[in-house]
Amino acid sequence: MSPGLCEQCEHARRIQSAKGSTFWRCSKSDSVPGWPKYPPIPVRRCPHFTPGAPRS
Ligand code: SF4
Repeated sequence: MSPGLCEQCEHARRIQSAKGSTFWRCSKSDSVPGWPKYPPIPVRRCPHFTPGAPRS
């Protein structure tokens, strides 16, 4: 499933599990209290979206 906006956001961190599953962690959770570390995907709207490339 596409993660929506996270796929084009510099705050996204793509995590590949040993079993091949992909998780999308949001680094904004490190600086914004209460912001989810793993937002429900697909993310269609986000006040913290910043265009850029996700990191792995
Ligand atoms: S800031 Fe929003 S769009 Fe960007 S990675 Fe986090 S949840 Fe996804």
